[in-house]
Amino acid sequence: MDMHVERRIEIERELRSAITADVIEPHYQPVVSLSSNCIVGFEALARWRSRSLGHIPPDMFIPIAEETGLINALGDQLLRRACFDASTWPEMFTLAFNISPVQLRDPAIGHRILSILGQTGFSPRRLEIEITESAFVEKTEVAKTVIEELRRAGVRVALDDFGTGYATLSQLLSFRLDKIKIDRSFVSHLDDSIESQVIVRAIVDLAEGFGLTTTAEGVEGAGQLAYLVANGCTEGQGYLFSAAVPAAGINALLNRHSGRTASAEDAV
Ligand code: C2E
Ligand code: CA
Ligand code: CA
Repeated sequence: MDMHVERRIEIERELRSAITADVIEPHYQPVVSLSSNCIVGFEALARWRSRSLGHIPPDMFIPIAEETGLINALGDQLLRRACFDASTWPEMFTLAFNISPVQLRDPAIGHRILSILGQTGFSPRRLEIEITESAFVEKTEVAKTVIEELRRAGVRVALDDFGTGYATLSQLLSFRLDKIKIDRSFVSHLDDSIESQVIVRAIVDLAEGFGLTTTAEGVEGAGQLAYLVANGCTEGQGYLFSAAVPAAGINALLNRHSGRTASAEDAV
């Protein structure tokens, strides 16, 4: 327990200096259209290699950033960097960016996102923010206002990790959304679980009924991909296509992917 506490304190200290030094950087995972098999955008995923602590995964440092109030500075910094990077991509590619539920408690977040878009010259129409269900349960009014403000400016909103949270359907549907991301836990069992197949089909149908698109997360195998395509899921993301790559690796990834059918060979 003591070791755990010590490690956490150490990470928090290093995190503060990493934010000051602006060394946490977004990597980008392609989002692939399942009807055309083309890359349509990229999701920014934060990567941090600390000099003294080594690679720290976002699942570990994002919660610490949330608890310590560092998430606003970190989120702004990452979004600014991601918008700069994405400005160099061909115009048709969108940028998906994760916004933590803690960030959505701050009524000023919408304004800050829009001013980062203004400063970097990145069009709001190319930005999609990803929000998890917990944002819809707590401080609902603030989240709702922020989402409306962003949608009015043309930013799209995706519901991340769908099916893993505690929001009720009516809570979710009271928000205006554009997309549902089907959680990896359902996608990874598509080959061997009838339940997962039924759940995925139901999510796609539900989304379609409300005019929303769907993205399947964590697509790793050709069998999973075939099921998703056959059942009308709009987009896919996962190691089958590519893991997240650094900004400098995007061109090589686009060259490798163009003109090829997605197959296990594309896996990184
Ligand atoms: P997420 O938003 O659900 O991101 C998807 C995670 O699944 C990423 O993990 C990605 O690398 C991983 N992944 C993608 N394809 C596959 C696959 O085929 N198989 C498997 N097993 N995993 C796959 P990552 O990058 O470690 O991020 C973990 C979580 O940390 C993210 O989950 C997100 O909630 C959070 N996160 C990452 N970057 C940011 C950020 O910039 N801001 C905020 N607020 N949260 C972030
Ligand atoms: Ca996400
Ligand atoms: Ca997710």
